[in-house]
Formats: sequence, structure tokens, C-alpha cells
Amino acid sequence: MSICRFFLPFFALLVCIQCTEQSQPKMNQNHSAATERPAWAIAIHGGAGTILKANMTPEREEAYRQALSEALAIGEKILKEGGSALDAVEHTIVYLEDSPLFNAGKGAVFTNAGTNELDASFMDGKTRNAGAVGGVTIVKNPIRAARLVMEQSPHVMLVGKGAEDFAVLHGLDTVPNEYFRTERRWKALQRIKEEEAKTGLLETALDHKFGTVGCVALDQEGNLAAGTSTGGMTNKRWGRIGDSPIIGAGCFADNNTCAVSSTGHGEFFIRYVVAYDIAARMEYLGEDLSSAADYVINTKLKQAGGSGGVIAVDKHGNLAMPFNTEGMYRASSVADGTRRIEIYK
Ligand code: ASP
Repeated sequence: MSICRFFLPFFALLVCIQCTEQSQPKMNQNHSAATERPAWAIAIHGGAGTILKANMTPEREEAYRQALSEALAIGEKILKEGGSALDAVEHTIVYLEDSPLFNAGKGAVFTNAGTNELDASFMDGKTRNAGAVGGVTIVKNPIRAARLVMEQSPHVMLVGKGAEDFAVLHGLDTVPNEYFRTERRWKALQRIKEEEAKTGLLETALDHKFGTVGCVALDQEGNLAAGTSTGGMTNKRWGRIGDSPIIGAGCFADNNTCAVSSTGHGEFFIRYVVAYDIAARMEYLGEDLSSAADYVINTKLKQAGGSGGVIAVDKHGNLAMPFNTEGMYRASSVADGTRRIEIYK
């Protein structure tokens, strides 16, 4: 009897622990403990859309692969040498903005008025501080302006002339708007305008032209960061701004969960708060990164009719890069030596 009384509380405690363990949500299968996490991890994207092998020349494909590889190498070097996720994200995106291949910085798509208006965002997972610029026309590297807003202003988002004045005040490089022009993007605008004149459908104004760029990183200190930069959508007008500079939609980072950068049909990404939704599923439902990202992109967004994808890294160094389009320019690298450069499904 007394033995029973002695062991009963221990038995109850054991049952209790068992029950709690069983009711815990599914945890990540890859790197789940801090001790297992790789020293650093990084992923980049160069936009998602109707990227078909049939429409690609070998030279063009090689140019994209090389640009992705060179951009990735910049972030890898910073992270390997112990630099911050913030620096890795900024410098990697600057490279992609300077490349005419992508719809960000040089090579941005054209507005209906034949100009280039750029948007960018930045988020620090350690502090949850964030910065963004919208509709800037003369800032050479909008991602630098977004980081400046985050670090040197009490605000999160600056747009148009005010954002440009702020960038100039802080000594960022400016360029005439024509700097961003490429023949390929100009022709794309002419094609859409011709189509629009024939069909009269405003829908064509939202024709999705891939090329937005983004980067997410985890550094050796365990800090996450995310950044996104874009020219938006071809033929946009009325000061249209998409998801890319919207914190929670086109960009999000929180050391407790993950860092995310989006690309796709911005109106959907804003309404479905895509980047934050992934982090929220991890935080509130205890889902692992790949389940959360896959559900948001391939179920929720897809059912709503929104096309696009994300790149994401969690605090354990796991990566996810789901997209519901034909392709997404993407690349990733982890401290353990895993390096991938991919375009198609
Ligand atoms: N999300 C961007 C926008 O809507 C476009 C893109 O990612 O290609 O402005």
C-alpha cells in the first residue's frame, strides 16, 4: 500500500510527460536542435513565372545560372568569414540589382508611362526592425535605401520623392532613370501595350513578368535577415506598388522562426500576407519550415489564383524554396557544402 502511494505520483508524472510529447506538433526532420544547425545558410531568388526550358536558349540559361552563382558567392563569402546575415543579404542583392538580367535595379520592367519605379524591403530577424522604399526612380540600389530606412530612420517605409531625398541625404548613389532601361524590358512594355489596345483588358497590365530578386540568410551568430527588390510589374500605373516592399508580404524575418523573400503576383501576396503567414504557421501551429512554406504557396495561394514562390531559411538552417509557377530562378548554399542552382521545377 505504502509502496503504491510512493510510486503513484511518479507514474502519473510519466504518463503526463508522454501525453505532452504526443500532443507536440510535428517538428522539423532536418536540423531541429541548435547544436545541429549548420554554421550558416543562404538562399536567393531571381523571380518566378512562366520559365520554360522550351523558351530558353542554352546561352541565356547559362547567363542566368552564372549570375545566380556569382551573386550567391558574395553572400557565401560574407557568411563564411563570420559576417552578418544583414551584410550578406544586402551585398548579394546589390549584385542582382546591377545585373540587367533581373527585374530589379538595372533591367527593371517599365511602367505604363515608360519609366522605371523601384521597390525594395529589408528585415532584421534579431530586432524585427525593418525598412522599405516604394516607387523610387533615381536610387541605383534600392536595397541599400531599404536598409538605410531600417537603420537610420524612425520609420519603416518611405515612398517616392521623400524616399529619394532620404537616400541622397545619406549619400547613396543616384542615377538618371534611363540607367535602368534595357531593350528587352522596353519591348515587353510595347508588346503588352499592343495587346491591351487590342483587347482593352486591364488584366494585361498585370501580366506577370518574372525577375524580382531576393535573399534570405542565417549567419554564424544565429541571426536571420531577408531582403527583396523589384521593378514591379510591366505596364503598372497610378503609382502601383506590389508586395516586394510590404513587410510581411514580400519580406519577413524573425529569429524565432524564419526569414522569407517572395516573388510573384504582388496583389495576392499582399492580401495573403504570404511571408508572415509562413512564419505564423511555424510559430502558432509549430509546423516545420518546409510544411509551412509549401502549404502557403502550393495550397492557399494557388487556390486563391495567386502565382509565385518564396525562398526561406529557418533558425535551424533549413531551407525551403517552393513555387507554384513553371519555374523560379533560385540558388542556395549551406555551410556543410550543399550548393544548388536551379531554374525549373
Ligand atoms: N512581386 C512583384 C510585384 O508584384 C513582382 C515579382 O515578383 O515579379 O511587384
